[in-house]
Amino acid sequence: MDSQYNPNNIFAKILRGEMPCIKVYEDDDTIAFMDIMPQADGHTLVVPKEAAVNLFDLSEQGAEAAIRATQRVARAVRAAFSPDGISIGQFNGAAAGQTVPHVHFHIVPRYNDHALRGHAREMQDPDLLKGHAERIIAALREQAA
Ligand code: AMP
Repeated sequence: MDSQYNPNNIFAKILRGEMPCIKVYEDDDTIAFMDIMPQADGHTLVVPKEAAVNLFDLSEQGAEAAIRATQRVARAVRAAFSPDGISIGQFNGAAAGQTVPHVHFHIVPRYNDHALRGHAREMQDPDLLKGHAERIIAALREQAA
């Protein structure tokens, strides 16, 4: 499993503001944005700001911050989409399905009557994603109130 961090990976570029993202949440240690090829409506990614390829490279402090942010954002996704369930996923290494070499957590709403779409397969309409993001942002605001 490769631990050599490549600062040109897409999430590093998003973190540096060199590439856009549809952001729903940010704190000192993490950022969360919509997956552009969502497996289900509301599929959101939580990305630690630390330069780590996978879970094993992340500091304990970074891991704590990531799971805190994941729980917070997942609560908002649950409130915004009322899914039947939510999968939280995190892949380490290409063999495990990791396609972006910067550690991140998937929040994937699950619906009894919908099969998941393919992983990193099909680009979603950005306007639709922006609408989904607004629902999550509103739920986060509600949570904080
Ligand atoms: P993984 O396969 O666990 O590394 O997941 C990477 C995820 O990032 C996939 O679900 C992709 O759809 C998603 N993705 C790739 N590029 C972008 C991007 N520019 N903005 C948002 N999500 C992305």
